[in-house]
Amino acid sequence: MEGKSRCRFCGSVLNYTFVDLGMSPPCESYLKPEQLNHMERFYPLHVFVCDRCFLVQLDEYIAPEEIFTEYAYFSSYSDTWLEHARAYTELMMKQFELNGRSQVVELASNDGYLLQYFVEKGIPVLGIEPAANVAKVAIDKGIPTIVKFFSDELAKEMAAQRKRADLLLGNNVLAQVPDLNGFIKGMKILLKPKGIITMEFPHLMRLMAGNQFDTIYHEHFSYFSFISVQRIFAEHGLTLFDVEELPTHGGSLRIYARHSEDTSKPVSHRASELRDEEMSAGVTRLDYYFTFSERVKETKRKLLYFLINAKQQGKRIVGYGAPGKGNTLLNYCGIRSDFLDYTVDRNPYKHGKFTPGTHIPIFPPEKIGETKPDYLLILPWNFKEEIMKQMSWIRDWGAQFLVPIPEVEVYR
Ligand SMILES: [Zn+2]
Repeated sequence: MEGKSRCRFCGSVLNYTFVDLGMSPPCESYLKPEQLNHMERFYPLHVFVCDRCFLVQLDEYIAPEEIFTEYAYFSSYSDTWLEHARAYTELMMKQFELNGRSQVVELASNDGYLLQYFVEKGIPVLGIEPAANVAKVAIDKGIPTIVKFFSDELAKEMAAQRKRADLLLGNNVLAQVPDLNGFIKGMKILLKPKGIITMEFPHLMRLMAGNQFDTIYHEHFSYFSFISVQRIFAEHGLTLFDVEELPTHGGSLRIYARHSEDTSKPVSHRASELRDEEMSAGVTRLDYYFTFSERVKETKRKLLYFLINAKQQGKRIVGYGAPGKGNTLLNYCGIRSDFLDYTVDRNPYKHGKFTPGTHIPIFPPEKIGETKPDYLLILPWNFKEEIMKQMSWIRDWGAQFLVPIPEVEVYR
C-alpha cells in the first residue's frame, strides 16, 4: 500500500478521509518581520479515520522536535485556564488522599501553570516539558521540570530513580503524541500500583457537533472519542474508571485511569453512560464520520459571506487573539489582512510578529482602543465569554463581537 499511512494505534491502512483542510503552515510558527519575504513551509491538514479502531488522526507530517522545542504557548496567559487548573487541584486534593509524601507528575507541564497550585499545598511535584523556553519559566518559578519528551524510555529512567507517580496527569498532551502506544506504555510504567492518571483532551463528539474544525492542526495528531481512548488504554493494561465532561476547549473529556490490576476503584456510572451515548451516536460506525466534511465547507462559506458583506459596507474588522486554532481557520478560509487589519494578543511573545501563512500583524490589545474598529473577530472562541467581558469597552464606540464557530455569529 504505497503512499498510504497507517493507524498510529492499530496499524491498519488509513483509507477514509474525515476532513481535508488543505495545506497549512505549522500553526505556532509566528513570523518575524524579516521572515515575511521568505518561503514558508506548508503541510497537509488531511485527517483520516481508521475503519478498524475508529481513531481519527492526522499523519505525522512534521517531526514533534520541530514543533515543540520552542513553543509560543504559555498557559499562564489565560485567566480562565488558570482558574481551571486551580479548581482541578482542589478536586484532586479532596478526591484522593494527597499529602507531603505523594508524588504528582505532569506530562507537558508547560510554564508550571498547574503544578504551582500543588506546590502551594506542599505536595511534591515534577513536570515534564519538552519546550525549553516554556520549561525555563516553570523552573524559574521553583517547579522542578525535566526538559524532555515523555516516552517509555524516560518512564523507565524515572521509575529507576523512584520517581513513580501517585497522580500522573496530562492536559491537552495526549492528542499531541505521535507515538501514542509508547507514550501510554510509559504511563503504565510511571504509575504507582494504586496511582491515578487523569488526562484531558478535546472530545471528538463535541468537536463534530460544534463544527470545531479549527481545533485541527499539525500539533494534534489524534482526535479521541471516549470509546477509542478506552480501547487504547485497555491495550496497555490501564482501565478508565471514571470520566467527566468539561466545557474547556469547546468540550473536553477528563478521563480517570488506573492499573487494570487495581480493583479498588470500580468503574463509574458516568463512564458507562458516556460509552452508551457514544455508541448510540454512532462512533463505532464509519458513516458517522462522513457527515463532518460538508458541514466544515458550509461554515467557511458562511463566514466568508459575512466578511465580504461587511467589507463592502466599508466596515473595519480586526481579530482578537492569535491562537493556534486561529491559524487553521484563517488559512483554511483564506482570511488575510484583506479582511482583518490586524489581530491582538495578550502574549508579548507574539507582539510584532505575523500569523503564519496569512501574515496578519499581531499587536497588544491596546491597539484596538487606538483604531476603534467596527468588528472584533474572536479567534479563541472557547474563551469568548472571558474576552467579551475584558473587551466590553469596545461597545463605547458601537463595535461588535464576531464569533466564527460553530457558525458566524454577531454579539452586540
Ligand atoms: Zn486503527
